[in-house]
Amino acid sequence: MKFCRFMPVDPSVSTSTAPLYGVIESEEIHEISGAPWSQWSRASRSWPRAKTRLLAPVEPSKIVCVGRNYAAHVAELGNVIPKEPLLFLKAPSSIIGPDEPIVLPPYSQRVEHEGELAVVVGRRCAHLSDTDDALSFLLGYTCLNDVTARDLQKSDVQFARAKGFDTFCPVGPHIETQLDPSDVLVETLVNGVRRQSGSTSLMIYPVAFLVRFISRMMTLLPGDVIATGTPAGVGPLTAGDVVEVSVAGVGTLRNPVLASRA
Ligand code: ZN
Repeated sequence: MKFCRFMPVDPSVSTSTAPLYGVIESEEIHEISGAPWSQWSRASRSWPRAKTRLLAPVEPSKIVCVGRNYAAHVAELGNVIPKEPLLFLKAPSSIIGPDEPIVLPPYSQRVEHEGELAVVVGRRCAHLSDTDDALSFLLGYTCLNDVTARDLQKSDVQFARAKGFDTFCPVGPHIETQLDPSDVLVETLVNGVRRQSGSTSLMIYPVAFLVRFISRMMTLLPGDVIATGTPAGVGPLTAGDVVEVSVAGVGTLRNPVLASRA
């Protein structure tokens, strides 16, 4: 099942202006009442996809990110493989949806893409044990671009600024519930040229391990997002670029890049 969040764009077929959640069924989006990670039910309305605009499919309380989770990416940045998952947070206010622009901030000279598999939590979980079925607590999977001001990440000890600028967290295009996350290809293209390509089978800490580990630090709430790390090949984004993050079995998240508004 593919869950999305969307806005109808043709006023002649709807008076609603509030974002809606829905299920994508071939060329239609069927509205649901409630969020996908809550008690939801099918509503009566549906729209042709061409008359909708997709929004980021999540509104999380937090975005938990995992750094240095692919050995080749650890090596390209000259870091060492961490003895346990390296966690940091992205600001929920940095989320944008498909086709929304990533805006380069004036405070950084080096903004880079990090294409990642993201997981969306379906059920509250805390302190999972080694025998708990961690994947059963997930609703599904989507694409995420962990946009990073690399120069500020290096100069600041904390990652909050480098990872938290507005528009630095494109997510989407939808949540796919039917996916085995153990061996799917994650790719990033810039202007159609492949920059990153790696299977999730190369993760140092796989998805189930990450969910258990994070649940022991902080309660994961329905709708929360975990960005599982980026494969090798990170590189700069400049104004005018179009960046695409694809996860096999999920889809492609496409965003243009704009110069600073300052
Ligand atoms: Zn990342």
